[in-house]
Amino acid sequence: MKVTIIGAGLAGCEASYYLAQHGIEVDLIEQKPNDYTDAHTSPDFAELVCSNSLRSDELTCAVGLLKAEMRSLGSLIIEAADSTKVPAGGALAVDRNGFSGYITSKIQSHPKINIMTKKVETLPDVPYLVIASGPLTNGALANEVARITDSDSLHFYDAIAPIIDADTIDMSVSYKAARYGKGGDDYINCPMTREEYDVFYNALIAAEGAEVKGFEGNVFEGCMPIEEMARRGHDTMLFGPLKPVGLPNPHAGGTIPYAVVQLRQDNATATLYNIVGFQTHLKFAEQKRVFSLIPGLCNAEIVRYGVMHRNTFINSPAHLDKWYKNNLPDALPSGGEVYFAGQITGVEGYVESSASGLAVGINIARQIMGKDKIDWTPQTAMGALGCYVSNASNNGRFQPMNINFGIMESLNERIKSKQEKNLKISQRALDIIENLNFD
Ligand SMILES: Cc1cc2nc3c(=O)[nH]c(=O)nc-3n(C[C@H](O)[C@H](O)[C@H](O)COP(=O)(O)OP(=O)(O)OC[C@H]3O[C@@H](n4cnc5c(N)ncnc54)[C@H](O)[C@@H]3O)c2cc1C
Repeated sequence: MKVTIIGAGLAGCEASYYLAQHGIEVDLIEQKPNDYTDAHTSPDFAELVCSNSLRSDELTCAVGLLKAEMRSLGSLIIEAADSTKVPAGGALAVDRNGFSGYITSKIQSHPKINIMTKKVETLPDVPYLVIASGPLTNGALANEVARITDSDSLHFYDAIAPIIDADTIDMSVSYKAARYGKGGDDYINCPMTREEYDVFYNALIAAEGAEVKGFEGNVFEGCMPIEEMARRGHDTMLFGPLKPVGLPNPHAGGTIPYAVVQLRQDNATATLYNIVGFQTHLKFAEQKRVFSLIPGLCNAEIVRYGVMHRNTFINSPAHLDKWYKNNLPDALPSGGEVYFAGQITGVEGYVESSASGLAVGINIARQIMGKDKIDWTPQTAMGALGCYVSNASNNGRFQPMNINFGIMESLNERIKSKQEKNLKISQRALDIIENLNFD
C-alpha cells in the first residue's frame, strides 16, 4: 500500500519520513523547484519561511513539551533541529539552510520515498492522500481543498521579520547577552533610552505599509506586525519584543535600558541575525529608514526584508477528526481516505505543523499495518492539538492555535506555582508517550 503526500514542507516531510521508516512506500509531490509560493525561496524541503526559532525547548512551556514528545516518537524535524541548532538561550533555533538541507537529504535518499516534482492542481485518486500543502497552498489545489472542506473564506495574515548582515551591526552600541543570563551571550541587544524609543515609536506608527492585496486587517495575534503592535499603544512593545528586563547594558554600567531590541543568530556561521518579533509589512524603504533609528542598527544592511502573506486554513472542526482525517466520504472518486497535515489544519507554528504531520504519519502507518490508531488524549501535547482542531467551537469561528497548556487536560490536583504545575503536566504527558503501546 502506498501513501501520497502533497507538499514537502514541515508536515509533509515529517509524515513521509515516519511512513517510510516503517516500510511504507510514499509518493511525495512537491512543486519546488519548478514553482514557489510567495514566501518560499529555497529549492530545499521543510523551508522555514520566517523566524529560525522553533521556540522554547523547556518543559515548563507547552511547545517545549511538544518537542520532547516528538523527539521520543522519532521526529525527523526535531532531529534536524537538534543537529543544526544555533545559540538562542532557552529556545531551539536553527541554521535555516542547514536545517532544510538535513531534512532534504534524509528525504531524497530514502529508498521508500518517491519524490515527484509537480504543482498539484487536482486531487489524485489514490487510497491514502495527505494534503500538507501549507498556509500558502498554491494554484488550483486551493480550490480543490475548498471544495472538500467548504473553507475558502478562512484565513489570516502572517508577516516575516527582516534579517540583518551581522557585520553591519554597531557593537560599540549594542551588546551580546541572553535575558537573565540564560544560555550565555546568545543575542545581540540594541538598547534604547526613553528619547530614542520615542523617536523610533513615532516613526514606526507613522511609517507607510506595503499594499497587501485583499488585506482586511485580520492578523494572527501571536505573529503580529511590529507596526500594528506599536499602534495599540506607546508602551505595548515594551511588554513584548522590546522588553528590557534581564538585559543590563554593559556600555552603561550595567543599568537596565528603557527598551531593548534583540537580534537572534540566523545561521551557523553567525553572519546573519534576525530581529526578534519584528514581523512587518512596511514598505522596504520604510523598513530601512525606521529600523535604522534603532541604536546599533543605523548602518545595518537588511539582507531579507519583512513581508506579509495571506495564511489559509480549513474549517477543521467541521471536517476533520482528531486524527486529522477528512470526513467527506466521496472526496476522492474511488473512496480513498484524505488526511490533512500542517498549518492548513489550523495548528499554528513550525513545531505544531510538524507535530500534526507526525501524528498523521503514525496513524496512517498503523492503519495500513492493521493496528488500532493511537488515541493520544489531551493529556499529551500531541493529542491536545488534534482535539483542538477537530473540536474547537470559538462561537462558530474557528481560529488557529499554538500549542499551550490551556488546551491540554488540567491536573486533578491544585498546584499554586505555574512553573511547577506546567512541569507536572509535562511529566504526565511524557510518561503517557513513553508507555504507549505501539504493537
Ligand atoms: C508568511 C508566514 C510567516 C510565518 N512565520 C512563522 C514563524 O516565524 N514561526 C512559526 O512557527 N510559524 C510561522 N508560520 C506558520 C507556519 O508554521 C509555517 O508556515 C509552516 O511552514 C507550515 O508548515 P506546513 O508543512 O504546513 O507548510 P509549508 O512548510 O508551507 O509546506 C507546504 C509545501 O507545500 C508546497 N505546495 C504548496 N502548494 C502546492 C501545490 N499546489 N502542489 C505541490 N506542492 C505545493 C509548498 O511549496 C511547500 O513546500 C508562518 C507562515 C507564513 C505564511
